[in-house]
Parts: sequence; structure tokens; C-alpha cells
Amino acid sequence: MSGLVLELQTAPWREHLQRTLVRYPGLVPVAKGNGYGFGLARLADETNRLGLVTLAVGTVFEVEKVRAGGFTGDIVVLTPWRPGNPLADALLTDSHVITTVSRLDDLTAISMQAPHARVLIEVLTSMRRHGIAPGQCKDAAAIMTPEGWSIHLPLEPGRLDEARELSLTAVDAHAAPVWLSHLSADEYRTLNAELPVDTRMRVGTKLWLGAPETRRITAEVQDIHAVHRGMAIGYHQRKPLRDGWLVVVAGGTAHGIGLEAPKSPKTLKHRLRILAKAPGEAAGLPLSPFTIGGKKRFFAEPPHMQASLLFLPGAHPGVRVGDRATVTARMTTTSFDELIEV
Ligand SMILES: *Cc1c(COP(=O)(O)O)cnc(C)c1O
Repeated sequence: MSGLVLELQTAPWREHLQRTLVRYPGLVPVAKGNGYGFGLARLADETNRLGLVTLAVGTVFEVEKVRAGGFTGDIVVLTPWRPGNPLADALLTDSHVITTVSRLDDLTAISMQAPHARVLIEVLTSMRRHGIAPGQCKDAAAIMTPEGWSIHLPLEPGRLDEARELSLTAVDAHAAPVWLSHLSADEYRTLNAELPVDTRMRVGTKLWLGAPETRRITAEVQDIHAVHRGMAIGYHQRKPLRDGWLVVVAGGTAHGIGLEAPKSPKTLKHRLRILAKAPGEAAGLPLSPFTIGGKKRFFAEPPHMQASLLFLPGAHPGVRVGDRATVTARMTTTSFDELIEV
């Protein structure tokens, strides 16, 4: 094992995937971005293993990537079609691609350009991201017969009433399956039982990133050096305020380490609390996501490309080259050197 590694307990992870499929009948796995840390090809393969023949991707650019992973079923593109994208235009005539459309003008353009295109019409929700107004459902269905309606709710719970109302408006305009996102399993099953059409539930995070106990991120300790107070170290030649140890670990900006997505205030407060607990050690250094000897350690300087420098003050920390540090990193923004199945 070397570099920055995702260790995955494959068997229990797959049990979780199976349980999720049972909780969401009509499940459509979502594979997008970095493949939730596993890679798009891997998620395509897992979708095949689940026996599912429909998969959703974020963008037209991801269609080829899930096909490269061996997926041959129907692929729903979640980003709505817009004019002027040659790849999106080409996919309109691909019989295994379902295009999301979120404006009447785009629907009209597609109806002329590719009248047999398979489309989902997205209805605007309280997310206010994409979608036709609910009052436009009848007009939309008159322009092109949709294969289904798309309803993408905010992550906040308690959206069943909104989902129900929008679904009924859409189904009243044209009876076609409703494709939902971000309802709880209970809400989804309630709505599924009520509606006179089939429903599909698109799930990414709760599917792939559920069962967090089945994975662990670790980084190889690549070097360790004694350093003294006042000795210049690192790219930026900063001088530590105490004697201690410089520990070089795998994982840097090239992996997405040290480039965190904006945090919610709650998490920020939590981080400040961690810093407040270790004031002497911090000495203005940023807390790193690497744990060594049971403690989160501080960066000696901001990480650079493939490795990070950590400063551990005091006595020898007892780590050796080849040991592994555990890392907390966001799966959706981290790229790993290796995925190791344990
Ligand atoms: C990304 C996306 C999803 C999946 O989101 P998760 O929060 O990862 O489950 C579902 N629906 C739509 C429309 C999306 O864009």
C-alpha cells in the first residue's frame, strides 16, 4: 500500500448497496464528478452488479466514462440540455440516453432537431435551480411527449407535500413516471404508493457513501526528520517555534487535500474548538486532516501537489517511514492513488 489510499471493505459495502436498493424501489444510482471517490467506471460496474439497467450522470461528458466502466443500459443526463453543445446534440439521437429538459424553448428546439429524443421534463421546485414552472406542464407535454417528469427537491427534510403537489400537477398534464431526488426513503415510499404512475428515485450520496465504517483513508508516511526551533523548513522556509519532527505524508493538493470545500458554520465552530484545545502546538499552523498517534496534526506549511509536511512538536512521535496515517477527507473532492479492497 503506498500513497493516498482508499481502503474499502467491499463485502459489507455491497451489502449496504443492496439494502439501499430494497429501501428505494425504483432506485436510479447517480454517478457523477469523481465517482464519489470510487471513480465513475467503478460505480458503473457496481450498478451492473446491482442488476440495474438505468444510471444517472451529472453531465454529457460523463456518459462515455460510465460506458467505459461496462455500463450498457439507459443513461440519464441530469444537467438540463442547452443549445450549442455538440456532444449534448449528438446524444439526443442515442437510444440509450435520456436528456433532461428544463425550458420550453429547449423542448421546442429538441422537438425539431431530434423528434425521437428521449426526454425527462424538469419541473421547478423550491430549489429554484432548473425547471419549467408547474403551470407550464401541459404546454410542455404538448410540445414533446416526455418519458417522465423530473423533480429535484432541496436536501432539507419535510418536502413530501411539495413533491406530492408537483407530481400530481405534472402527472395530470401527462401520465408519465415521476423521477424524484432527495426525498427520505419513507417519504419516497409514501409518494410512490399514492401516485398513479411509476416513480424512480435518484440517489448518489446515500447509496455510495452510506456505511462509512466500510472505508478508511490512509496516507503513507514517506519521511521523518528532526527539526530545531528556528531552523528553516519547507517550500516557504518557515521557522518552527519549537523543536520537533517534520513528517512527510502522501497526499497533497493534487489529491484535493488541503483544498476543502466551504464548511457549514457548525463545522467551522467545531474546528475552532479543536484549535482552542491545542493552542501551544498550533502556533498559527493550520490543522491538517492527518492523524498520527491518535491526534490530528498540524501542517508545517500549506500542502503542495503530491505530499504534505506536518510539524509534530516535542519528542519523537514514534512513527516510521512506511507507517500509515489516517486521513479525514471528503470523498467527493479527493482523488486516491489506490483503492484497496480489504
Ligand atoms: C447529483 C444529483 C442527485 C444525487 O445527489 P446526492 O445528494 O449525491 O444523492 C440527484 N438528483 C439530481 C438532479 C442531481 O443533480
